[in-house]
Amino acid sequence: MARAPVGDDVYGEDPTVNRLQEEAAALVGKEAALFVPSGTMGNQLAILAHTGRGEEAIVDSQSHICYYEAGAPAMWAGVTLKTVEGLMNGGGEELLLNALRPEDIHFPPTRLVCLENTFNRGGGTVMPPETMERIYNLAREKSLIVHLDGARIFNAAVAAERDVRDFTANCDSVMFCLSKGLGAPAGSILAGDRDFIARARRYRKALGGGMRQAGILAAAGLAALRNIGRLAEDHRNARLLAAGLAELPGIKVDLERVQTNMVMVRVPGPRTAAEVVNLLKERGVRCGAMGPDLIRLVTHLNISSEDIHYTLSVAREIFSHP
Ligand SMILES: *Cc1c(COP(=O)(O)O)cnc(C)c1O
Repeated sequence: MARAPVGDDVYGEDPTVNRLQEEAAALVGKEAALFVPSGTMGNQLAILAHTGRGEEAIVDSQSHICYYEAGAPAMWAGVTLKTVEGLMNGGGEELLLNALRPEDIHFPPTRLVCLENTFNRGGGTVMPPETMERIYNLAREKSLIVHLDGARIFNAAVAAERDVRDFTANCDSVMFCLSKGLGAPAGSILAGDRDFIARARRYRKALGGGMRQAGILAAAGLAALRNIGRLAEDHRNARLLAAGLAELPGIKVDLERVQTNMVMVRVPGPRTAAEVVNLLKERGVRCGAMGPDLIRLVTHLNISSEDIHYTLSVAREIFSHP
């Protein structure tokens, strides 16, 4: 980062940002890419660049775009979200088909479908490329655009032992995070065709995301891309953690959903998830409450198998003394 050659990226003159964007576009098989400060901004630029005011985007009701982006599609693009329960949970095409409404003056025109892979609130689950392909074909048949929230798309590719392009071939645009498990301090990539990226670049400027000597951050992004191969280690650690936790009294872990770097745990009452999170935090284990009795634990490049064994010893102590 300290040695990165830099320039003014608002003028497209930062060589490190340009290199990152080129590498990223090639990696996911798209014409062009844009470096953005956060995944949320990447998703919102995609919605802005793909839709017009008053149109509708179809998303899973548990998707990051719907659940964790502060209602931004209404705020910036003026887009309504049509939420579909189970879209990313194996429901796929049929649910999408059911969500579509005919052209009618009463209905907002549906323009966009957003998929999420891996699916965060699903527990980091992978939607196979074949399922994405069926959804993408259906979407195109209905003249809909598909955006992929691929914050963790490389976790999906590594877990499925597939080229990431097998996934990204089935969408018009993709956002992925360089932060999260790949380890950059900040930054995400939005990729798609040249015209789309040109529109997104203008919206990025409008939202205040045009960064000047951003090569310092892009250098960390380039380093993050070198961490894709080691995601398999995070997945092994997550399975080790899940298997250990599943043996504790009262705790419920759906081992089938532990497919990548996340472990979702249902904790037994009377303690709430938030209380358990605090008990773990006091012992140096940080995780998040995702619901009243649901905890999410995530592995990443700073978590070793020794850390997993330590976490299990702490969990044993907490859960054997209710
Ligand atoms: C983290 C995440 C994002 C983007 O988050 P930022 O914190 O804005 O970078 C988008 N989608 C999913 C599924 C995520 O997990």
